[in-house]
Amino acid sequence: MREIIDKIDYNFKTKFYYNYDTSKNVWFRTGGKAKVFCIVDNEKELSIILQNLKGIPYEVIGAGSNILIRDSGYEGFLIKLGKKFNQIKLKKSNLTVGASILDINLSKFAQLNNLKNFEFYSGIPGTVGGAVKMNAGCFGSETKEILIDIKTINNKGEINTIDKKNLNLDYRQSQLPEGDIIISANFHYNYGDKNEIAKKMNEIKINREKKQPLKEKTSGSTFKNPKNNFAAKLIEMSNCKGLSEGGIFVSNKHANFLINKQKGNANQIEKLGNKIIEKVYNKFKIKLEWEIKIIGQK
Ligand SMILES: Cc1cc2nc3c(=O)[nH]c(=O)nc-3n(C[C@H](O)[C@H](O)[C@H](O)COP(=O)(O)OP(=O)(O)OC[C@H]3O[C@@H](n4cnc5c(N)ncnc54)[C@H](O)[C@@H]3O)c2cc1C
Repeated sequence: MREIIDKIDYNFKTKFYYNYDTSKNVWFRTGGKAKVFCIVDNEKELSIILQNLKGIPYEVIGAGSNILIRDSGYEGFLIKLGKKFNQIKLKKSNLTVGASILDINLSKFAQLNNLKNFEFYSGIPGTVGGAVKMNAGCFGSETKEILIDIKTINNKGEINTIDKKNLNLDYRQSQLPEGDIIISANFHYNYGDKNEIAKKMNEIKINREKKQPLKEKTSGSTFKNPKNNFAAKLIEMSNCKGLSEGGIFVSNKHANFLINKQKGNANQIEKLGNKIIEKVYNKFKIKLEWEIKIIGQK
């Protein structure tokens, strides 16, 4: 992999790190080393990197709030979008947002400009790229309601625009083409009442503080809610509250949250998750599906 970087790196602003400890970039604060971690400076460089990878695996990471990297690490390029992917442009017909903007900052920008329907992003600790990929949402709203289209770079380094309808956004999932990296997203906007917007954001804050263990090392909801059911309820009713594996515990505040309390590792998170899947299945014959994206070799 070093040869590839040596070949393309001569005048690059992108930063490359070898055998990089990924745990710093993941909310769980667990995970092994990535062979190469790169913070990409701009679109052109991202395109050149992707053109040169030629079969070497790569993954993109946003804020790391919904990702688990196995302890064995990642044998490829882990790509993070840098500051140039951090721009917001309010145009006449839409709002164009860089993929590395934090959802909370998007919601604050919308509030400052009296734009409604972005309030729910104040409750999601990820980036806009991660929000589109996961169709993130909370408190009755989700990304697909306000998204128009996205700009991506594919594994050949080509830039494309993909309309929302071709992403098939559904509950915590999208059909983003394999290998595509989202570089920006276009949203619809409507003007709203400043006080109403602030009130909604405050309600979300209070609700989250009440229901979620926000000060812990966690990845939020571990499993998707099964159709017409709640994963947290099923987990609780299967007597999983209080379960632990090494340093990883099922949260007492929210049973669908796993928390890294005592220097736990990724293997323990996966083990505890699988134990929960088994217990819930034994009791209800419902198979929980991971919401968290797990990467790296077993
Ligand atoms: C305390 C807490 C509360 C949470 N509450 C909610 C909630 O209420 N609702 C909700 O929906 N989620 C919630 N989450 C989960 C998480 O914040 C969301 O899924 C978020 O959208 C993930 O964004 P991210 O940037 O952190 O993505 P990451 O975790 O870094 O990555 C998640 C996936 O998105 C992909 N991805 C990231 N960026 C890009 C990009 N630019 N292009 C292509 N793919 C990309 C990654 O490859 C990976 O597959 C919560 C998490 C935590 C820790």
